[in-house]
Amino acid sequence: MAKVIEHTFATPAEVEPGILRVTLPLPTGPRHVHCYLLRGADGWTLVDTGLGLMETPWEEILAQVDGPVVRIFITHMHPDHVGGAEAAAKATGAVVIQGRLDYAQCERVWGSTDWPERIAEWFLDHGVPLQVAEELIESGHVFADFVRFAWNPAPVEPGDEVDGWRVLATPGHADGHLSLHRDGVLIAGDTLLAPITPAIGLYPESRPDPLGDYVETLAAIEQLAPRVSYGGHGATIRDPASRAREVAVHHDERLDTTQAALGVEPRTGYDVSHALFGSALPPIQRRFAVAETLSHLERLVVLGRARRGEDGRVVTYTAT
Ligand SMILES: [Zn+2]
Repeated sequence: MAKVIEHTFATPAEVEPGILRVTLPLPTGPRHVHCYLLRGADGWTLVDTGLGLMETPWEEILAQVDGPVVRIFITHMHPDHVGGAEAAAKATGAVVIQGRLDYAQCERVWGSTDWPERIAEWFLDHGVPLQVAEELIESGHVFADFVRFAWNPAPVEPGDEVDGWRVLATPGHADGHLSLHRDGVLIAGDTLLAPITPAIGLYPESRPDPLGDYVETLAAIEQLAPRVSYGGHGATIRDPASRAREVAVHHDERLDTTQAALGVEPRTGYDVSHALFGSALPPIQRRFAVAETLSHLERLVVLGRARRGEDGRVVTYTAT
């Protein structure tokens, strides 16, 4: 059984010596996101920042912490992690550090005015009906206004050190997703979660096989075998290696189900998403369902278990 998370918003909780967890509310999805404060010699490192939409009471939070927050580390460019970066930087005066690849995608998605149109075009290519695509454009513009990332952060690369923490590339949930590792502790962002599993979606202008990336990330975590993993949502993971194995098995099963949904008749990612996620989804959730279905379809293509074709402008998949 999943442990019930205590939602004591805006009160930092010490999860172990030198590591505080700050849980912020979200209006949707898992309803909360965990940020972490890591104690260092010169002050604290804040990992992730919540959503820009919510007024995070940083003053109140900082008043409960001894010493200044001197840097802010972003694990990945999804709204619930990067959306509050501008406000957090303003409240703390700290430098924001973000992966080079991750920031490039962050700026492309949240810093441009036409991303919702571009992503909608791409969904049309994958069989999404016009009406659903149009709703995505509308909600995309509304949502983008609430993502207040920090422009021009200090870049960081996998292999670098941030205040004694090793920066690890953990792609899959996002192409440029980074995690921090030190003394058997993994600050995992959304790379490893429990009891939920992170969404692994295919998106335009992104790496071609995100599920392949993610499977490698899971294998690397299993190899690393940290003592504990603190994620962006849900429970603390006390045996990260076995959780990584479990999640890998989950995707193996998902791949089998996806393959079973294919036949000789070409099907689009949108069609197959109905077989996997059912037919009763509002547009915003259909978007995630199609992206998740496509990451599995593309993985099957790489593995030689499905074939990609084209029907006019529409991308289709068939059984091999
Ligand atoms: Zn998240």
